Formats: sequence, C-alpha cells, structure tokens
Amino acid sequence: MSLVPITDMLHDAKKNRYAVGHFNMINMEFAQAICEAASEERAPVILGVGEATIQYMGIDYVVSIAECAAKRSRVPVALHLDHGSSFPVIAQCIRAGFSSVMIDGSHHPLEQNVALTQKVVELAHAAGVSVEGELGSIAGTEEDVTVEEKDAQLPTVEEAVSFWEQTKVDVLAVAVGTAHGLYQAEPNVRCDRIADISSRINAPLVLHGGSGVKEEVIQQAISAGAAKINVNTENQVAFAESTRSVLNQKPVIADARDFLREGRAAIKETVRAKIRLFGSNNRV
Ligand SMILES: [Zn+2]
Repeated sequence: MSLVPITDMLHDAKKNRYAVGHFNMINMEFAQAICEAASEERAPVILGVGEATIQYMGIDYVVSIAECAAKRSRVPVALHLDHGSSFPVIAQCIRAGFSSVMIDGSHHPLEQNVALTQKVVELAHAAGVSVEGELGSIAGTEEDVTVEEKDAQLPTVEEAVSFWEQTKVDVLAVAVGTAHGLYQAEPNVRCDRIADISSRINAPLVLHGGSGVKEEVIQQAISAGAAKINVNTENQVAFAESTRSVLNQKPVIADARDFLREGRAAIKETVRAKIRLFGSNNRV
C-alpha cells in the first residue's frame, strides 16, 4: 500500500477504544521491524521521523525507505514528522512525500502556537496530509530537544478545546504528565484530563512518551481516549541491548549484519508487544 494520512486510522481507534502505535524509525532495520510486526499483527501503524533523523539519513532516504516498507505491508502505514519545529521544515516534508506532520509550537506563546498551527493545517490539508498539533510542553528529551520537568505544563480542558477549535488539527497531543526518554520516577498520567478533553473535541488525542509507562496506565489512557501512543525509547533500548550482547559474545565481528539482524528482531518483538497492548492488532 502507499503511505496514508493518520486521520482515518485514528478516528477508528478513538471510536473503538484502541490506540495506534507510533514508532520512531531511524534506519532501514527499524522500518522493516516496525512494518513487519504491524503486518503480522494486522495493525495500522505510524512510522515517526524527527528532524534529527532527517538530518542523519537525508530526507530522500527517509521517504524512500518508508514508501518501500509501506508497499511491502498488508496494513495502512503512515510516515509522520515527529515534533516538527517550523513551517519551512513542514513544507519540506510535505514536498518530499510525508503523509502526515506534527507541528510542535508548544515552545511558543499560545497565540503564536495557534497562528503557526493554523498555517500548517492550511498547507497540509491542501496536500491531503494530516496534522498533529501540540499544546502544553512534554518533559524530557526527544532527539535534540529537551524540556525540563519544571517547564512542562499541563493545559486545562478549556485551553485544549479552544486550541482545537481555532486550529482544527486532525489529531491533538496534549501534555498529560508523560515525558520523553527514560523515566526516573513513576509518571503521574492524568487520564481524567484525557477523558475530559477527548469527550469535548472530535480529534483523537495522542500520548507522547509512551515508553516505560505501566501497562495498566496505558490501558486506562486508551479507555480515556488516547488513540495514538508514541514509543521510541523502548525500541532503542531493545536494539542496543541485543546488539551489545552479540558484540560481547563475539568480540571479533567481520560482518555488521550479524548484530543488525539481532537488533532488528529485538525491535520487531518490542513493537509486536506494544501493538497487542494497545489493542490495534486484528484491525485490518
Ligand atoms: Zn513526543
């Protein structure tokens, strides 16, 4: 199949109370592992790519690898810009073939965030590309962007409703207490806030920082209305641990495929477990 926007898959998820997994891909092995797990589980899936990865791989490699993975998949696959920081980056991704974009204007004052997000929605919708907006900043480090915990803000229900009414984003990420990266302490995820916002707006909600959140909390967040859950760190850890173990066992390695193959298999099983936890399996 070709790459698709995330709107339809997430509306189905919101309606039927499951969540679609957004998994960050940084190279071919990640793309293969994520899409193979999704195909086998018959789950729609989102390949998330941040700006640092675009710089690392080159945008043409990103799109070509995602298109190839989607073509080989028997399920809907979206290529989604994760935490897009500016209008020029968004425009570049849309031109290059991304099927979905996130504009993260949360570091701007609210009015500026609204104005920037409106501009992105206009451009993206004209190209048939879906848009995720962000309100309130999510703590932790995502690629090269760090938000200190004290600076992370949880918006009120009214603020979220007003942001959505003004911008008409297809999907909304709201800070609800999760953080990017590895958790130092148990996060206090405000599922009550997710439920209140979800019942007041048509757009599905996104939970960022899904790695390391307890399974029962993930299930509560999905019941409350989280329809897209972002996972990156757990795949990175799975890849690092499995490749490190191969390298430790065989200090002299002449073929990088010996450890890449193991890393890819480890990501695939991590993704499969998340898909089942999110309830997105057997949906296609
Ligand atoms: Zn995020």
